[in-house]
Amino acid sequence: MTNGSQEPIVGIDLGTTYSVVARLDEHGHPATLVNAEGDRLTPSVVLFDGDDVVVGKEAMKAMTTEAERVAECSKRDVGHRVFHKVFDGKQYPPEVIEAWILDKLRRDAETQVGPFEKVVITVPAYFDEVRRKATQDAGYMAGFQVLDIINEPTAAAVAFGFQQGFLNTEGSTDEPRRILVYDLGGGTFDVTIMEIRGSEFIALATDGDVQLGGYDWDQRLVDLVAETFIREHYIDPREDPNTAGRLWRECEDAKRTLSARSKASVACDYKGFSSRVEITRQQYEEATQDLLDRTRFTAVQTMRAAGLEWSEIDRVLLVGGSTRMPMVRRMLAELSGKEPDASVAADEAVAHGAALRTGLVLAKQRGERAGFRIWNVNSHSLGVVGTDPQTQRKRNGIIVPRNTPLPVTARRVFKTSKPNQRSILVQIVEGESPAAEECSQIGRCSVRDLPRDLPPQTPVEVLFHYKPDGRLKVRVHVPNTEREVETEILRENSLPKEHLDGWRKYICGREPSDYR
Ligand code: ADP
Ligand code: MG
Repeated sequence: MTNGSQEPIVGIDLGTTYSVVARLDEHGHPATLVNAEGDRLTPSVVLFDGDDVVVGKEAMKAMTTEAERVAECSKRDVGHRVFHKVFDGKQYPPEVIEAWILDKLRRDAETQVGPFEKVVITVPAYFDEVRRKATQDAGYMAGFQVLDIINEPTAAAVAFGFQQGFLNTEGSTDEPRRILVYDLGGGTFDVTIMEIRGSEFIALATDGDVQLGGYDWDQRLVDLVAETFIREHYIDPREDPNTAGRLWRECEDAKRTLSARSKASVACDYKGFSSRVEITRQQYEEATQDLLDRTRFTAVQTMRAAGLEWSEIDRVLLVGGSTRMPMVRRMLAELSGKEPDASVAADEAVAHGAALRTGLVLAKQRGERAGFRIWNVNSHSLGVVGTDPQTQRKRNGIIVPRNTPLPVTARRVFKTSKPNQRSILVQIVEGESPAAEECSQIGRCSVRDLPRDLPPQTPVEVLFHYKPDGRLKVRVHVPNTEREVETEILRENSLPKEHLDGWRKYICGREPSDYR
């Protein structure tokens, strides 16, 4: 897996708090690319500075002085129509903010590897279809051609496999190994159980929480300090955005200190008052215990979904900056009965796995045998919405249960209800709840141009196809014909192609290209 003189392909870990770019070096080893500031990690933070958009460290610094112009954790809002903050009266779709981050990563990387457009981007395994699509859209708006979207824990497992020598020329392990990847980053949490069998990386089960990460641990410290401040001075320092930004940065720093030391202190100044709060590790762990418990619960659930006992797990692999917290390691050791493995670089393993994935594309281009294969599962059940005849409520009729190996195609037969009916509308959701409104709305899919004069009750077959990257395609089999057509999904929270093209031009100056 060497990267000859072809146009480079780059792997990108687009994180909630930090992003990392990596590619394969001349020996086929993954290597992190440093950004324009000389850092390996780029804060996923965007500053709207008048007509300029500044990304990374400088944007992060501005959280303490111009907090109202700073967009942080945009990945948490991906899948929603707009980012939760308004900038100068404008609201941006979260994927547009992500596109600005990707654009910065591209410009910085290009100074080292030359111009490129092909990338592999990682997403949390627990990202649903809508969020995967939005991430791909962000890549398009940043001028990329997104060759693949792979799951972060899978990428980390691949990086681990590479490091362990599983991906050598034979590319295989001697015996199957099962690893549990526990990925606790800044904004999201993922657990995936993988089996490494020969050169195959097979996801067995996955679960997670896209609203849980180091950021929540920070907020608990912020609240602890703010409560002391209120007791001492009767005002809340969180009411001012810049003070809140400063306090958050201080607390994030103290959190890191508490991973290494048994106490830390945070100073807070506001309106001429000041407090200094000492926090012990024990106090901190008590204040955040419920957050940790949520990850523990999810890990147990995932083991159950995979039908495995802890004795059948060979390693517990730690990924994500937040796994540096001693409380995480202690909990996992106690739960699994084994010492968690911190041998992969917590913040870089995901990007390295993405870079190794680009090696597969390169190998294919050269007609070589691929070094390894990835098998994925869907992280949310796929359903179509129907009406309960008794209650008239919208129900989620599950057609592909979660943790089904991908790719998968599910068929569902719908019947026309009127004579000469020319179309059928199918509403698609992802989620586990039987109530359709509690699920993630993927969109509607209209089956059009049915042949004329079909009698009522004519069956029409609809095929729902999950690709290996977790993206959905819908095809329709028209009755009495051999015709199978792909139908467009009309998405509720997704940008139309013209908007994507407009943003692409605006963000990176590139012309529209074929993309859907
Ligand atoms: P993401 O991929 O979600 O952006 P990362 O894996 O880069 O996240 O991890 C970033 C998170 O890790 C941040 O919340 C950061 O505060 C936290 N973190 C980094 N180092 C430490 C540490 N030493 N102790 C505790 N938390 C840490
Ligand atoms: Mg991450």
